Amino acid sequence: MTQGVDIKKVGFISLGCPKALVDSERILTQLRAEGYHIAPTYEEADTVIVNTCGFITPAVEESLSAIGEALDATGKVIVTGCLGERPETIRERHPKVHSITGSQDVEGVMDAIHELIPPDTNPFTSLIPDTGVKLTPKHYAYLKIAEGCNHKCAFCIIPKLRGLQVSRDAGEVLYEAFRLIASGTKEIMVISQDTSAYGVDIRHRESEFQGGQVKAHLIDLATKLGEMGAWVRMHYVYPYPHVDEVVKLMAEGKILPYLDVPLQHASPKVLKAMRRPGAGKQLETIKRWRDICPDLAIRSTFIVGFPGETEEDFQLLLDFLREARLDRVGCFTYSDVQEADATRFAEQVPEEVKQDRLERFMAVQQEISLERMQEKIGRVIEVIIDDYNEEPGQLIGRSKWDAPGIDGSVMCVHGDLAESEAARLIPAGSIKIGDIVRVLVEDADEYDLYGEIIEVVPWKPNVPQLGHFGKH
Ligand code: SF4
Repeated sequence: MTQGVDIKKVGFISLGCPKALVDSERILTQLRAEGYHIAPTYEEADTVIVNTCGFITPAVEESLSAIGEALDATGKVIVTGCLGERPETIRERHPKVHSITGSQDVEGVMDAIHELIPPDTNPFTSLIPDTGVKLTPKHYAYLKIAEGCNHKCAFCIIPKLRGLQVSRDAGEVLYEAFRLIASGTKEIMVISQDTSAYGVDIRHRESEFQGGQVKAHLIDLATKLGEMGAWVRMHYVYPYPHVDEVVKLMAEGKILPYLDVPLQHASPKVLKAMRRPGAGKQLETIKRWRDICPDLAIRSTFIVGFPGETEEDFQLLLDFLREARLDRVGCFTYSDVQEADATRFAEQVPEEVKQDRLERFMAVQQEISLERMQEKIGRVIEVIIDDYNEEPGQLIGRSKWDAPGIDGSVMCVHGDLAESEAARLIPAGSIKIGDIVRVLVEDADEYDLYGEIIEVVPWKPNVPQLGHFGKH
């Protein structure tokens, strides 16, 4: 039936954070719904969409060079995403881009696509898919609960780019999670700019979910998500008081014992200059969370070399690290972001001092990370399998304390490669990507755990699985 039909192909470059990835998925879903195909190479593409990131200077550069490359290859480029909120920056370097839209503007992107390559209206070839497009592997997915941010951190331009916070209704979010889990997703990563503030902008209004009403509040949402029986992971959670209730859900095993809390610094003076939300009494808060949920893993990110940061401030940060003993930590040197307030701050820290502080910071944290990881040796933990490794029987997975892409892995063996009786009994090749297994942890380094798979955990979510309705 499709002979002679000119199927339009769109190249797609997705840059930036998980929030941008969710926008990319929406655009790709719409493209597929309208019968466009996704081109794997520039050569095959009729046009290219670049979903850009504008967060920090290196990300802006990466976006601009991706646009340039796509223009050289195809001559027809549609730009969207965070950097699209600053069209003059793009036009200055690349005057020939076809159109520029900001983040979340699926409609704007589709309008541009229709102009450049009108859709195929043949009813036999323009098939509407029944599920969305996911850029992540099938077993995990990002769930965006809000867009934008109400804060004014001095180093950040996200509120300027993406606007004030707009939360989605809880019912809409929960139905999306339900659909994802029904179609095989086992792990849901909850994301937004400020997850703790979810629902504040819509006054925590109620919406319908499965015949009942649910409040747009983080605790209500986390409770309902936890009831679906998948792994639920919380990202970008600021330490507001009600987060204690979320940590209680973790202690009860309803959601994963994992909190991604971007703290950025520990010196009160620097935090004040940064205008960070929820800053203050950080150690007290962490201790309280660990009392509630001793198995909690805390991930955080920090910036060293923020304007005005003295050696004394930096020492406070190192002291904090030693005392807080966080599980997973990322650190960046401060870099100017065009239009961010901090670019105008006096007392910029010299580049070599920033680098020196970064190295000292990482040296302290690496020792802590190693100790934290070694504490896990001898435990039996649940691991979700992400990938195969070199030999049959070697697999790469993640524990409940590791988010994909940013944390460590659990390197596991079974079958002939294993030493324990239990692991040798599981034949190599019998475990697939997305399976959840129990692993006896035998070794650890700063980032990864190593162990043997001793059991496969049956997958029993509280959501009917697509293709299994009515079956037992
Ligand atoms: S909380 Fe601060 S860093 Fe995060 S998006 Fe909002 S303004 Fe930016």
